[in-house]
Amino acid sequence: MRPESSALQDLVRQLHHDGTPWLPCGLASRLDWGAPVAPGCGSLSCAALDRILEHNPGDFTITVEAGAPLAAVQQALAEHGQWLAVDRPWGTGQAPASAGSIGGLVARGLAGGYRQRYLGIRDQLIGIRVLRADGVEARAGGKVVKNVAGYDLMRLFTGSWGSLGLITEVTLRTLPLPPQRRGLLVQGSLQALAELSRKLLHSSLTPERVDWWSASLAAAAGLEAQPLVVVGLASIDAASLNHQIATLRSSTALACRDLAAEELHHLHIVARGATADGVALPRWLLRLGVNPDQISSLLAAPELDTLAVDLAVSSGLGMAWTLEDPAGPSEPMAERIARLRQLCGRLGGHLTVLRQPAESSLASWEDAPSRPLIEAVKYCFDPRAQLAPNRLPGVRPTRAQCS
Ligand SMILES: Cc1cc2nc3c(=O)[nH]c(=O)nc-3n(C[C@H](O)[C@H](O)[C@H](O)COP(=O)(O)OP(=O)(O)OC[C@H]3O[C@@H](n4cnc5c(N)ncnc54)[C@H](O)[C@@H]3O)c2cc1C
Repeated sequence: MRPESSALQDLVRQLHHDGTPWLPCGLASRLDWGAPVAPGCGSLSCAALDRILEHNPGDFTITVEAGAPLAAVQQALAEHGQWLAVDRPWGTGQAPASAGSIGGLVARGLAGGYRQRYLGIRDQLIGIRVLRADGVEARAGGKVVKNVAGYDLMRLFTGSWGSLGLITEVTLRTLPLPPQRRGLLVQGSLQALAELSRKLLHSSLTPERVDWWSASLAAAAGLEAQPLVVVGLASIDAASLNHQIATLRSSTALACRDLAAEELHHLHIVARGATADGVALPRWLLRLGVNPDQISSLLAAPELDTLAVDLAVSSGLGMAWTLEDPAGPSEPMAERIARLRQLCGRLGGHLTVLRQPAESSLASWEDAPSRPLIEAVKYCFDPRAQLAPNRLPGVRPTRAQCS
């Protein structure tokens, strides 16, 4: 279903009346990633809701319809020297639609290394308009940055995976595009990189992002097969960047390589797994996180051998993926990933399976401690359990639901 804006509310009311299950959808770039929804559930796409409704460069806010492609919004903002401070979504290829829609970005609620300086998408969202499962429209927040009234629907819908309602419009804060960007690439042992990361996080330097890569990802990017840390720096003037780079270099005995803005950009594209024109489709794709001071322990784990891994130093969150199963006789990947999930838990984090081969049936996520609360909220918004059936973040899908 791909209704025009004017027909959307009536359609949702009708679906509610008929008790039809449905899945909110943006541009369908990553719709089937994560827990599978119940078979036979149709999707309702926001692709026709693609307008930029209002951009206030002076106020640093933009209001867009949910189906607006992220790439188009970034382009429109760039014409005013602004941007939405979010990473390219993982897997984004050359085709602009492969970055997905703004609604999809909010619904998945994921962030990359830019979170270090700019926080996550939920912190950039200042207003939201949604259609509830019964077709009633709800609004929260507003169009100005200082907005504190009412219940914070913005945070609730961020990362809701289409399970609570259809996002139809969002207002986000924008930022000036940094005029200068440079970086530093540091390779070395896990222990030495852990020491450097610790220093960096507690220093007065203000990197835009700091990312850890596994040796496999470094090798895939044509670098030495050794773990590395990429520090991204942004500033309004070159002198400040020179100063930050000199300070960084003097704080470590490890070999460092300066990166120009284009090289830094290229590395970030590699780290987002972009190999194709459309969305990359790895055999295994995992979202994982650990306590930030446990990243080196995670990367040392044999379970991660041969996987490309990219983790943000400040949050300990990131992605791991492999395009192929390892060659030759080895432990089945599903068993390795199950052990990896336990390890992430022991290191203070979690693991979500976003993509896995058809023959594997690992649960995408485990029960969160707050499962009863999550289910109670779901019931309030969607009492007939019509939306994204079987896919509720924080509630482990049953084996029957997964297969
Ligand atoms: C650094 C980074 C890494 C990311 N990595 C991943 C990743 O690995 N996997 C991933 O899936 N996403 C990832 N994302 C999020 C990614 O941006 C979105 O998946 C993408 O924007 C999807 O857009 P889409 O329009 O194609 O959504 P779709 O593929 O159509 O839908 C994606 C999800 O959002 C829901 N949804 C879409 N539109 C709406 C709406 N209007 N209202 C309510 N729910 C909606 C769908 O039900 C589905 O669960 C990442 C984002 C960032 C910033």
